[in-house]
Amino acid sequence: MKLDFHPAGRHFLQIPGPSPVPDRILRAMSYPTIDHRGPEFGELGLKVLSGIKKIFKTDQPVIIYPASGTGAWEAALCNTLSAGDKVLMFETGHFATLWKKMAESLGIEPEFLGRPGIEGWRHGVDAGKIEERLRSDSAHAIKAVCVVHNETSTGVTSDIAAVRRAIDAAGHPALLLVDTISGLASADYRHDEWGVDVTVSGSQKGLMLPPGISFNAISTKAIAASQTARLPRSFWAWDEIIEMNKSGYWPYTPNTNLLYGLSKALDMILGEGLDNVFARHHRLAQACRIAVNAWGLPIQCADPAVYSPVLTGVMTPDGVDADQVRKVIYERFDMSLGTGLGKMKGRMFRIGHLGDCNDLTLMATLAGCEMGLQMAGVKLNGSGIAAAMDFIGSQDVPFRR
Ligand code: PLP
Repeated sequence: MKLDFHPAGRHFLQIPGPSPVPDRILRAMSYPTIDHRGPEFGELGLKVLSGIKKIFKTDQPVIIYPASGTGAWEAALCNTLSAGDKVLMFETGHFATLWKKMAESLGIEPEFLGRPGIEGWRHGVDAGKIEERLRSDSAHAIKAVCVVHNETSTGVTSDIAAVRRAIDAAGHPALLLVDTISGLASADYRHDEWGVDVTVSGSQKGLMLPPGISFNAISTKAIAASQTARLPRSFWAWDEIIEMNKSGYWPYTPNTNLLYGLSKALDMILGEGLDNVFARHHRLAQACRIAVNAWGLPIQCADPAVYSPVLTGVMTPDGVDADQVRKVIYERFDMSLGTGLGKMKGRMFRIGHLGDCNDLTLMATLAGCEMGLQMAGVKLNGSGIAAAMDFIGSQDVPFRR
């Protein structure tokens, strides 16, 4: 394959992140790299550090790391916990499983709640189970509850407010750690109101940036925990970063050009209005599910109350390799769809409808899927495109506000 070949039109990057980066953001990132200890940088630093708080809905510090989401996962754990600490995690899918593996490798002792087999990967966090387990922990050995808000491997969004209520109802002091790497700026999220102690997120999903920066939004209780937590940390340690961030700087070389991009992304998202951004994601997700239902294919998320506004997981019929369908669609239409991960490998594909996505982006995506499914020999009940068009056409939402 020739790498310099330029196909006509845009590649359709419809995976659930990295999501397409708007031209305005790409241009902003092409500004010259400046001295990260100079006067202009401090202004940029202060702007992004205060703007990002609005996205997390918090008045407390948000740490920005020059790292992928996995780094921010590790930062959340190593700043708040000590080796041998027990934590409660919930198996919602591949990413919850990876976070648990990371906890184990750091010497933490996670307990994994959830339903057995694939069923567990079709539902969200069961706050009732968390409450029950915490009530039985009268010695308060469990130090944290860790959950994934938007499980990118399945298309399930869990109710974080319900998890907070469960912890409070059990009268348990455990910290609440939440991964919203793929939920932030696409699905409603409220760090302060939901009483989250550490929220982990990343740049390459709803924020419409390339991969490369990630976040820890933290609470006063999490900062207090960091003072006694004993897991080794240096690069990830919050205290020095928080101190330097007060004047808009970092203790090391930050990711300057991605911060230019973040500054532009914040202007775009806050300019559109978070509620409008969420409503757009909700509408596109609904249109996508209407199409999948019209095709007669099962949606991976089995509980409509927790359908994700970020992506839709589509299960292929028995005997149809979902990766083969993805391959046909990629080779014929230059469109990338998300692969099935972990337990769902080959059994589903994922349609991303997040970030810089509008009605017509989604319609083209669905057209590519419908044609590709038919080319791959999948028998469909009806036209998903027609059904989605009917729905989108019935929505009176001007694109400009
Ligand atoms: N958690 C979730 C929910 C994710 O979607 C991802 C990546 O897609 C990660 C964690 C890992 O983040 P990264 O790949 O940026 O390290």
